[in-house]
Amino acid sequence: MNQSTAPAIVVVGSLHYDIMVDAPDRPRKGETVTGYAWRPKFGGKGGNQAVAAAKAGARVRMAGAVGDDDFGRFLLNRLEASGVDHSRVARLTDVGSGMSVAISDAGGDYGAVIVSGSNLRIKETDVADPGLWAGAQALILQNEVPEAINLAAARAAKAAGARVCLNAAPARVLSPELAGLIDVLIVNAIEAEDLCGIPVLDLASAAEAAMQLSSQFGSVVVTAGGDGVAGSENGSTPIQVQARPVTLVSTHGAGDVFVGSFVASWARGQGFSQSIEAANDAAATHVSAQGES
Ligand code: ADP
Repeated sequence: MNQSTAPAIVVVGSLHYDIMVDAPDRPRKGETVTGYAWRPKFGGKGGNQAVAAAKAGARVRMAGAVGDDDFGRFLLNRLEASGVDHSRVARLTDVGSGMSVAISDAGGDYGAVIVSGSNLRIKETDVADPGLWAGAQALILQNEVPEAINLAAARAAKAAGARVCLNAAPARVLSPELAGLIDVLIVNAIEAEDLCGIPVLDLASAAEAAMQLSSQFGSVVVTAGGDGVAGSENGSTPIQVQARPVTLVSTHGAGDVFVGSFVASWARGQGFSQSIEAANDAAATHVSAQGES
């Protein structure tokens, strides 16, 4: 796509340097385990969604914060390589970058520790700056930064005429003001149940949850892993889209690829159901390839 005609998307959110460790067991209290291997991974839902939206053809500007450390430089380099404008990602000298350590054991179970660090230090004035919003068609938010930042960003987006997508991950109680500024809510099965109490076990229950949540949030998409995805546009009869059959490699980050791809398509002017289809395809490709995001 010609970059001058590509949709412009602002992502406000988290950046994490993830350290992935493979080990025979996860350590118990007081125990030291010898692992096999480790690798760094670019992470944070905000960063992953920004990269996915850029990969789907959008012009993406990200606002967030990293520390003035090697982890922060790794994160900025990765945004740069993905074509994401990171000039609005603050480099803070008095706090470390957000990071996590995840340990996968031989049985495939895993445990993780996340340190939010710089992600909790994004300033409301940074996301309200009109320069961030020039020409923006859409904003993507998640719940890994403080609600006050999401609220300031959503207000600024609306003032600039941009539509707002919240990926409510992890689920948390939203203020009525923020809920009222959201055009599309995207949640996975667990988050949907947390928000509306309906257990999402298959596509039919995902559709039921989407319908129920749409009375509060306008349009709602509920992703249901290998079952697929359901969505209700402003309370309309929900659509249900089966997941693409794939040879599964890893579902890690599937939701982030879905969100970034959905908003890239939606901001380009595609309809709600077309954008769901495009995101379902992109997420299927992601889970069937060795995810590099
Ligand atoms: P999250 O990663 O947030 O938990 P999901 O697991 O619901 O999100 O996955 C998001 C989307 O990724 C799904 O709606 C689907 O489009 C795609 N997806 C996930 N798992 C699979 C799978 N096993 N096969 C095909 N597509 C998948």
